Amino acid sequence: MKKINKEIRKLIYIIDKYQDFILFTHINPDGDAVGSILGFYYFLLEIGKKPYIFLNSPIPSYYRFLLKGDVNIISNLDRSYNIGIVFDCSDIYRVKEDLNVKEKTKILINIDHHTSNSKFGDINIINEKASSVTEIIYDILTKSKFNISINVATCLLTGLITDTGSFRFSNTTSKSLKVASNLVKIGVDISSISKEIYEKRKLSSLKLLGISLLRINVDKDIAWSFINMEDMEKYNATLEDIEGIIDNLRVLKDVRVVVFFYPINEKTLKVSLRSKDNRINVSKFAQSFGGGGHKEAAGFQVKNSNSDVYNLVINKLKEFIEENERISFSK
Ligand code: AMP
Ligand code: MN
Ligand code: MN
Repeated sequence: MKKINKEIRKLIYIIDKYQDFILFTHINPDGDAVGSILGFYYFLLEIGKKPYIFLNSPIPSYYRFLLKGDVNIISNLDRSYNIGIVFDCSDIYRVKEDLNVKEKTKILINIDHHTSNSKFGDINIINEKASSVTEIIYDILTKSKFNISINVATCLLTGLITDTGSFRFSNTTSKSLKVASNLVKIGVDISSISKEIYEKRKLSSLKLLGISLLRINVDKDIAWSFINMEDMEKYNATLEDIEGIIDNLRVLKDVRVVVFFYPINEKTLKVSLRSKDNRINVSKFAQSFGGGGHKEAAGFQVKNSNSDVYNLVINKLKEFIEENERISFSK
């Protein structure tokens, strides 16, 4: 914690000294990514700074309620910036594979909570115990005695709600509940956030959920399902329609790991993993395929995929679980 505090102090000094900020997060942003980037953006605006947001993919429609006024969002890094801040990214390639973030920023700050974080920043504020990056931002703002407006608080609570699965997952700690409670105290309406996020899905999203549930396969400890390009085209779906499907697969009893495959584009397949057993670290498994994440929620991508990839991944995962069993048995 001492080390984090030192890094936070450096960040506070930088916020005071500079005007020009560019904020980044990962592709296909989730609630924590959107909440972090917008929460920090509004905070910087409120203290008179000039922030910009770089986004490589659109903000899902069900997070757009967080957009207030004109937000400076750019999709090209056409000039250099003094300060770059990257939120919720275990590695810089998660922003955009071929983006020269380091060259375009004088000082790069990395704020994250992934165990697999590669510490790519000049300043790294990494707290693996934090449920979400927005929880870390709450710490930064309160430690530095900055005022948290309702607008900022709404963004921060969105990240907390989505990354903890509405305070159900094992990353829900007394600290995260306390932070949520303080944000509600500021005046945030928690039920209206939940309605925006969970009750405004498109019909295409429910259709994809339906076919994913019908297609579920159970193979020993693993439940898995998939969506392919034809499904996406049939229902005129976009990637935002996929978010949350895996949480509906994980409700199945008697399985330890849940896997969901879906296409990011014609050439790339995404593999999402969730562990229901704290002895199985899916982040470790994802890392062996070049991905990452948390112990209980992780993912990776594979190029030029066909349906053989499903079997390959499931077989490798079975081996991984068996190997894991052997190691813990011999301990
Ligand atoms: P998802 O399955 O996309 O909801 O992601 C679950 C977790 O795994 C999140 O914390 C992501 O940041 C992480 N993750 C997903 N895909 C990747 C990837 N390709 N590389 C590194 N981490 C990933
Ligand atoms: Mn995220
Ligand atoms: Mn996160």
